[in-house]
Amino acid sequence: MSLGFGFALLALGALSTACTSERESSPVSKPKATETLASTQPMNLVMIGLDTLRADHVGLYGYERPTTPNLDRFAEASVVFERAYSQASSTRPSHQSMFQSRPPSAAAANYLALAEVLLENGFRTAAFTGGGNISSRLGFARGFERYEERDTGLAGTLPMAAAWLREHRDERFFLFLHTYDIHLPYDPPEPYASMFSENYEGVVTGPKTRSLLRRVRELDGFEGKSFDLETNDRERVVALYDGGIRYADNQLAHLFRLAEELDLYRDTVFVFFSDHGEEFWDHGTTIHSHSLYQEQLHVPLILRTPKRDSKRIADRVPLMDLSPTLLELLALPVPSAFEGESLVGLIDGSDTGDRIAIAEQRALKSWFEYPWKFIRSTDTGRVELYDLEKDPLEQNNVADTHPDIAITLSDRLNARLAEGSGDAVPELEPGIVDPEHLERLRALGYIE
Ligand SMILES: [Zn+2]
Repeated sequence: MSLGFGFALLALGALSTACTSERESSPVSKPKATETLASTQPMNLVMIGLDTLRADHVGLYGYERPTTPNLDRFAEASVVFERAYSQASSTRPSHQSMFQSRPPSAAAANYLALAEVLLENGFRTAAFTGGGNISSRLGFARGFERYEERDTGLAGTLPMAAAWLREHRDERFFLFLHTYDIHLPYDPPEPYASMFSENYEGVVTGPKTRSLLRRVRELDGFEGKSFDLETNDRERVVALYDGGIRYADNQLAHLFRLAEELDLYRDTVFVFFSDHGEEFWDHGTTIHSHSLYQEQLHVPLILRTPKRDSKRIADRVPLMDLSPTLLELLALPVPSAFEGESLVGLIDGSDTGDRIAIAEQRALKSWFEYPWKFIRSTDTGRVELYDLEKDPLEQNNVADTHPDIAITLSDRLNARLAEGSGDAVPELEPGIVDPEHLERLRALGYIE
C-alpha cells in the first residue's frame, strides 16, 4: 500500500514533472525546487513526543483537570486530530512504526525512517531525547546528525534544543524533542507532585510509585501474589501522573516563547504526539505495553503548520500516517517504503472518513475499523471483539455473538500483516544492551 506516494506526487504536481522517474526509482530523491517553495510551503519541522500521554488526560481533549494550559493555547492555532491511534502500546515499536510508517512487525532498526529522508533532502537534523527504548542503540539515531539521550527531561533538553535551533535557524531543519517527564516513575517536582492530590497521606509517594505499580502488574516475581491499591491510592497514582503532564506542559512554555522569538510559526511545522497511553485500572491493571485497549492507543496528535487554519478533525487516523503527512506538507516525495497514507487531504477537507488502525504488541494484534475493534492473541488464541459505538470502554467482548464479524476482521488483519515485508523485531533483550542502557531502562521502570 503506497497511497501516500500518490498523494505526494499530487502535491508536487506544481513542480517539474521531469524528476518523477527519478523519484520512483529512488526511495529518497533530492528535491529540485524547494527554494522556490519557500514563500508558500513550510520549510522546517519540529516534532515533540510526550511519551505515555493518553489523550483523555489532555485539556484540549476534554480532561477536567488543567493539565495542559500551554498546549491547549497552542492547539487553538493548530489542527487537532481528536481520534489518533498509535500502532503499539510501548515506546520502541510505536516510534519505529511512526517514523518508518509501517506496522510494528514490518518495521526494523535498519529500515528507512523520516529523519533519514529529511537528512538526504538537505535538512539539518537533531534529536534531544530521553533515550531508553528510543536509544541510538536501537537504531533511532539514524538520520540524525546529532542524537542526545538525557535523563533530565525537558528541563535539561530544551535549553540544548534551543541552542541548536538558534544555530540552525537559517538552514532547513528537523528537530525531534522527546521526553519521559510523564512516564513512570510519576515523580515530578513540587508543586506538580501534590497539585492534584494536596491532602493525600498514604503509600504512593514519588520514588515508591514505580515498584507499587509493578507489583500491581505482577512483574518482578510478584506473579500470583494478589496485590492491588485502594481507591484513594489509585487516585493518588493518577494525580501524580497528571502532575507530570502539567510539569511537562509548563516546560513547553519555554519552547513556545522561543518559537515566537525566532518567528518559527512562519515557516515551520510543529507536531505534538504521544507514542502510547497509559492504563489506570481501565481493564484491571496499570502502566502500558500489556494490552491494545483504547486507553493505551488513543493519543494526542496536534499539528500546527503555516498557511493552514486551525481545525478539529474527528475522523479516526493511525499514527503511522504521520510521516507521509509531514513529507507532503514539506513538499517532499514520500518514499515507497512508507506504507501510511498522508493526512493532508483530511487537513484540507478534500478527504474525509475514518481510517483503519492496526496495532501490535508482542503476541497481541488488533484491527480497528470503527465501530468494530478486533483483538487476537497469537499466544493464547484468545479473540476479542468490541463494538466501540455501544461500548467505547471495551468492556463487553462480543466475539461469540458476532463470529462473522470477528472472522472477517481477523482475515483482514492477517492479509494486512502478511503484506509487511520486514522481519519481526525481537523485543528488547536485557542481555544485548550495555550496563548504562540497562540503568536507563531500570529508571523508566521497564526492568527491575
Ligand atoms: Zn513510550
